[in-house]
Amino acid sequence: MSEQLTNEQINEAGHLTIGGVDADQLAAKYQTPLAVYDVSKIRDQIRRFKSVFEANGVDYAVSYASKAFATIAMFQVIDQEQGHIDVVSGGELYTAIQANFPMSRVSFHGNNKSREELEMAVKNKVGVIVLDNFHEIELLDQVLKEQDATSAVMLRITPGISAHTHEYISTGQEDSKFGFDLKSGQADQALQEVLANDRMNMLGIHAHIGSQIFELKGFQMAAKKLVEIAANWHNQYQYQPEVINVGGGFGIRYTKDDHPLAPEDFVDAIVKTIKQSAADQNLDMPAVWIEPGRSIAGPAGYNLYTVGSRKDVPGLTSYLTVDGGMGDNIRPALYQAEYEAVLVDQPNALPTETVHVAGKYCESGDILIDKQALPASKPGDVLAVLDTGAYGYSMASNYNRNPRPAVVFVENGESTLVVKRETYADLTRLDQPLPKTF
Ligand SMILES: *Cc1c(COP(=O)(O)O)cnc(C)c1O
Repeated sequence: MSEQLTNEQINEAGHLTIGGVDADQLAAKYQTPLAVYDVSKIRDQIRRFKSVFEANGVDYAVSYASKAFATIAMFQVIDQEQGHIDVVSGGELYTAIQANFPMSRVSFHGNNKSREELEMAVKNKVGVIVLDNFHEIELLDQVLKEQDATSAVMLRITPGISAHTHEYISTGQEDSKFGFDLKSGQADQALQEVLANDRMNMLGIHAHIGSQIFELKGFQMAAKKLVEIAANWHNQYQYQPEVINVGGGFGIRYTKDDHPLAPEDFVDAIVKTIKQSAADQNLDMPAVWIEPGRSIAGPAGYNLYTVGSRKDVPGLTSYLTVDGGMGDNIRPALYQAEYEAVLVDQPNALPTETVHVAGKYCESGDILIDKQALPASKPGDVLAVLDTGAYGYSMASNYNRNPRPAVVFVENGESTLVVKRETYADLTRLDQPLPKTF
């Protein structure tokens, strides 16, 4: 059995269950391809992150980085858990507004927020705008003046620390498109501009060092660095950040080769480092914010597919093709992300072959899993790819004009549709035929 599954997830029929519901039944009821979330896993991860802050009596926010998976229902679950959210676009903010998510618990991120997006954020009184660059400080100043408003802000800095991970998803190194550079003095200049601005309330300092990180070291270095900056700002500008935000990036298990730390371990290391550094620097203990995305949405998600055609290349390999692929999960094609899968009606059966799990899209690179050991399967069997909850549906496309899948939430044996499957009519909804004169 895949190590990502527990015994409780196998029912009496020997089938995979998700949130207490037979995955075969979910596939039959909602059709495939289907994204399914076990909601109790989402809640659990948030609670585990929170527990260490609570136990240490540290002021905190666990702010879900919603780009991992942003829908109204997801925001409602985060709200039920009293979490915060990060948004990075007008569209994510709009979704949060539609979900009635409390705007005071929203952080607005992004390295090129437009004037319209900033206007929307200020009008809706989002909790904090995380400033990324000088252009944005100027734009926000104009927007605040126009609306005669004020806003809490944070400064995103690049701490000069690179986490050991894939370069496309690593952001903390100096040569990054995100945030104010530290060494060259940009961060200090930004601070002075913000402190001099009556409409901006400088709440704290932010860094995000990368994604899918398995080690504590990067977080400890970043946390220490942020406290040093805080101490520096205190000495030089008599300003002390209320909040130190160390971002997200906590690694999860996709395959048996991944050995992630527990959420508690990450928070424990971050809290200890900040406590110690603050004491060393004679600073008051700040509030500590974290921004997990993948680690909240990822492990809770399953993509269900129906097995279709098969190609056996004599003497070489076999391609087992499913009814989805890069349109609903671009990660394998985009950065060679790896997953594991099981057949939902025999997740425990011993494998008898190793196949490429291929998608149905017209790209040779549309391979969901390069090497998957499986028992014998036949067309019509349902395959569950595990741990697909982050950056899967949220990156889905209509490539080849395939409709995007439906999304279902399951908890305590009850399932509910939270995003409808796109229809063909949806696909042409925005198309305009040529006028006769054209
Ligand atoms: C993407 C992102 C996160 C979340 O990263 P994960 O790897 O999904 O945890 C957090 N903070 C910022 C600023 C981000 O851009």
